[in-house]
Amino acid sequence: MTNEKELDKQVLRCPRLGGEVPFSYCRTLQDGMPCDRIIICWELVFDIGAYLQEHYKPAEIQKFLHPKPKDKMTTLLDIIEQAKRNAKKAKKPPE
Ligand code: SF4
Repeated sequence: MTNEKELDKQVLRCPRLGGEVPFSYCRTLQDGMPCDRIIICWELVFDIGAYLQEHYKPAEIQKFLHPKPKDKMTTLLDIIEQAKRNAKKAKKPPE
């Protein structure tokens, strides 16, 4: 049994973002499901295969490892939503 709270604190450099991300980010990236590159990125850090088998059904693993490509309209709408979220964050005063 893996300790998820401890794993969530582990960080590595994301090849997509170019900065460090915690495991908690990687395991929830796709609408709460793991990133499709989670095995490639984390296999040298801990036994990611055992973790996935312990926490997800085989069909779920297949789905998040091989996500369907989004069509252009969906991608465009995602970019607009992300821009709105970023604009809201930028307006918030620092805490
Ligand atoms: S699993 Fe995905 S989000 Fe996490 S470091 Fe790798 S590419 Fe980045």
